[in-house]
Amino acid sequence: MTSPLVEVAGLQTHFPVRKGLLRRVVGAVRAVDGVSFSIERGRTLGLVGESGCGKTTVGRSILRLVEPTGGSVRFDGRDVRAAGGTELRGLRRRMQIVFQDPYGSLNPRMKVRSILEEGLIIHRLGTAAERLERMTRALARTGLTAAALDRYPHEFSGGQRQRIAIARAIVIEPDFLVLDEPISALDVSIQAQVVNLLVELREQLGLTYLFISHDLSVVEYVSDDVAVMYLGRIVERAPAARLYAEPLHPYTLALFSAVPSVEPDRRRRRIVLTGDVPSPARPPAGCRFHPRCPLAEQVCRQTEPPATVVDGHAVHCHVAAREVERAGGDAAAAASRMAELMAVGRAASPAAT
Ligand code: SF4
Repeated sequence: MTSPLVEVAGLQTHFPVRKGLLRRVVGAVRAVDGVSFSIERGRTLGLVGESGCGKTTVGRSILRLVEPTGGSVRFDGRDVRAAGGTELRGLRRRMQIVFQDPYGSLNPRMKVRSILEEGLIIHRLGTAAERLERMTRALARTGLTAAALDRYPHEFSGGQRQRIAIARAIVIEPDFLVLDEPISALDVSIQAQVVNLLVELREQLGLTYLFISHDLSVVEYVSDDVAVMYLGRIVERAPAARLYAEPLHPYTLALFSAVPSVEPDRRRRRIVLTGDVPSPARPPAGCRFHPRCPLAEQVCRQTEPPATVVDGHAVHCHVAAREVERAGGDAAAAASRMAELMAVGRAASPAAT
């Protein structure tokens, strides 16, 4: 058993809401509100959820591109939130990010050479000749030649720009990449190429990924483990194969029901959620999903559901916890029962109100 490379515990990132001439703080948007997970070396954690659920903020908070307001982030045993100066620079060399938009994330006034070399210079890595060698190698790994060095980003297609963004991330030889919706801005025809490139790089370079996406099929393909986020919290987490075969949380069931499948046994009846996602400035009491959950009971409106864990599959749901208990810890039977309840649209239980 290897030790986790990334350990996140109770992470909170709140943004102040200001009003009036004096810009007084009148509240806070709780973009991330108590998120915990760990990622072992060489593994990929997929983070899924609707837009606005806080998944992008989780990735940026780990790298301190936005400052967390609570909780802890440890990278290779070191406290990222407490690090400053040289230590933080050293940690950032080992943790890189690839952004969603390959058009906006590359400076259009800089040639690819300057874009790639910037990180090497900041981190004082190598002589000019060594830097050139590293840049050429990084481009080759992403399927581009050294001829790209003397061209500007606008001279490349969207897929090639994302390859340049990936080369910029790997040129300084990090251990961990946050991939923030890395294919969602690309044409469908080239998404698979970039996904396969990321998988190859992970194997070749021994990288660890946090793969953030709303594309459930891609997340299943890429990830070892998957966490589902809703309104600033993780509501379910499991090894990818388990989660996709036996989802327990009503929100996960609704998300998965919207994914088309060519496999008959994986086709699910579509569950349409009603109501809007509540504001993260005023999250509901109890279970945050209760205003939209077809199985909501009185207890859901009052008490936050704790984690129920069966064989490494964790779910935060009162009804799922009850079904797991009823099934004697058989997660497959509980998942089947949760799917039935969601199809009926209510928790058929004496406790339901
Ligand atoms: Fe939340 Fe209750 Fe629905 Fe479970 S059944 S997701 S606890 S509202």
